[in-house]
Amino acid sequence: MRHTNRVLVTGGAGFLGSHLCQRLLKIGKEVVCLDNFYTGTKENIRALSNNPHFEVIRHDICQPLSVEVDAIYHLACPASPVFYQRDPIQTTKISVLGALNVLDLARRLKVPVLFTSTSEVYGDPLVHPQREDYWGHVNCNGPRACYDEGKRCAETLFMDYHRQHQVDIRIARIFNTYGPQMNLNDGRVVSNFIVQALQNTPLTIYGNGEQSRSFCYVDDTISGLMKLMAKPHCHQPVNIGNPIEKTMKEIAQIIIAATGSHSTISYHPLPTDDPKQRCPDISRAKAELNWEPVVDLKEGLQKTIAYFQKKIHQLNVVSV
Ligand code: NAD
Ligand code: UDP
Repeated sequence: MRHTNRVLVTGGAGFLGSHLCQRLLKIGKEVVCLDNFYTGTKENIRALSNNPHFEVIRHDICQPLSVEVDAIYHLACPASPVFYQRDPIQTTKISVLGALNVLDLARRLKVPVLFTSTSEVYGDPLVHPQREDYWGHVNCNGPRACYDEGKRCAETLFMDYHRQHQVDIRIARIFNTYGPQMNLNDGRVVSNFIVQALQNTPLTIYGNGEQSRSFCYVDDTISGLMKLMAKPHCHQPVNIGNPIEKTMKEIAQIIIAATGSHSTISYHPLPTDDPKQRCPDISRAKAELNWEPVVDLKEGLQKTIAYFQKKIHQLNVVSV
């Protein structure tokens, strides 16, 4: 396999991107982090900024780019429903134009390019758990469509650049991931519940809380992405997620217990098209990559809670 040294991470200042940059530096890569700081922060990459092998480029992925690298991880795109629905037209543009721009770059440089797709391509799935050969059940004009259809179109572009131009693609379909370096105001369920629990305010369950998700700790997700990139000729989509499924009610109770919180639960309307169930079938990742999650939910949540505790403490100190 081609030896890759200089790696571009688009969306490198975001939650997953900042962890990926850190892990790539650890194994001796030069890392170029590209971001426009829409949802990512300089704080996420502050610890890396003195590393001579780390470089940051402020750039909007909707614009063409030119940078000499040996591999590309393409993550740039807001991932939280709150943020991707704030400017839905921009979300579709980021997904489609962003994919075209990184694929053109990968084609010119003849380097592998990994796309972080999502379990959202399965929509509100009628097949459970979800295997990669399930085509999904997506509302193409609902409020989630900017993200779901944007990601589906990006997958189409990745496959077509592979078939038409032999670009060496990888497609990771990531399921809900949590961990340190999520934004306090990210709006996704794990960060919301932890911040609410730590502040002893009610945990906001949308709908009746019976909907399910399967949560993967960030270190496991990043290992999956790196193994996928390292696997030659793996051009089919691969689910990366933790198959242990929980309802939102269960997650709320687990987080209340883990934080020792006095929070109660408050119920709010379920957002339109909110998927009822999500659970990855990870047989392909196990067989092709020899990958499966190793961090259990309680351990991952403890690390995440410790991170948010520190963040909230810092904010309180600053505001005093
Ligand atoms: P995030 O919002 O924390 O990070 C996204 C990063 O992309 C941010 O740093 C943001 O500033 C940057 N970005 C957004 N628009 C950009 C643009 N136009 N140009 C350049 N940079 C831009 O989200 P995340 O959770 O780290 O997700 C990273 C990727 O993984 C996304 O593509 C997301 O769709 C995918 N994904 C994440 C999850 C998850 O659970 N975290 C699940 C499925 C898929
Ligand atoms: N959710 C919730 N309370 C919150 C935030 C989210 O009950 O404060 C629910 C949301 O309706 C969804 C699930 O938690 O059913 C996961 O939401 P998230 O935004 O984290 O991810 P996604 O819907 O994209 O899987």
